Amino acid sequence: MVDLRGVHKRFGTLEVLKGVDLRVDTGEVVVVLGPSGSGKSTLLRTINHLEKVDQGYVSIDGDLLGYRRAGNRLHELKEREILKQRTHIGFVFQNFNLFPHLTALENVAEAPLSAQRRTKAEVRTAAVRLLARVGLSDKEDAYPRQLSGGQQQRVAIARALALHPKLLLFDEPTSALDPELVGEVLDVIKDLARTGTTMIVVTHEIGFAREVADRVVFMDGGVIVEQGPPGDLLDRPTHPRTRAFLSKVL
Ligand code: ATP
Ligand code: MG
Repeated sequence: MVDLRGVHKRFGTLEVLKGVDLRVDTGEVVVVLGPSGSGKSTLLRTINHLEKVDQGYVSIDGDLLGYRRAGNRLHELKEREILKQRTHIGFVFQNFNLFPHLTALENVAEAPLSAQRRTKAEVRTAAVRLLARVGLSDKEDAYPRQLSGGQQQRVAIARALALHPKLLLFDEPTSALDPELVGEVLDVIKDLARTGTTMIVVTHEIGFAREVADRVVFMDGGVIVEQGPPGDLLDRPTHPRTRAFLSKVL
């Protein structure tokens, strides 16, 4: 489903991703752990084509992100084609990033309405259903400022699902929340995981990783240091850097 090969990303002279290889299969839930500055957000942003890779490639279901193959040459896609590729990938940010001037329902309906593939009535029905799925049927007409952080993040998850993405990316979805609101957001993500959604979740919630992840990936210094099933990586890490990190967060 998702395939990263030898991905490098530099900002000026700073090399942030130093050759990342990562495959995620359909229905798989991968949790990414790692210290601050290790490149976790940059990794997600390259998968969503918010950042262009300098070397290597990312493909989703065999389609290269940002490029089209013609014989053995690569042609860069136009902005419009890249936007279309990006509709296959849902992204949930740490700080929700809802449109402040739109209601919860309008936030969820915005992308499908601009994609103009369905009628207004169809989009509305689907948005109503998505808000129900994240437990917010009573908040359809509320604006983001009228919602708690946990509710805003659940709207953001519903919005990320609106275009039926093949893949969902979460970048520390609960780290901006008050502790008592973390559970309601993790419950929604767990429910998505159970129903077979393919996802990559950057989080420091080790309990969540243990319970939900099929695989845990530990990143440090722009590379994947170690990966494996949660029971192995969390309880029997083999690399000293993984051990050092886990001893601080567990
Ligand atoms: P955190 O846990 O703090 O969110 P992270 O693992 O997500 O960290 P990244 O945000 O991917 O780390 O950043 C990795 C490195 O790249 C950091 O040193 C950061 O300062 C740098 N960086 C990220 N984005 C940019 C940018 N747009 N321009 C320049 N440097 C950047
Ligand atoms: Mg980050």
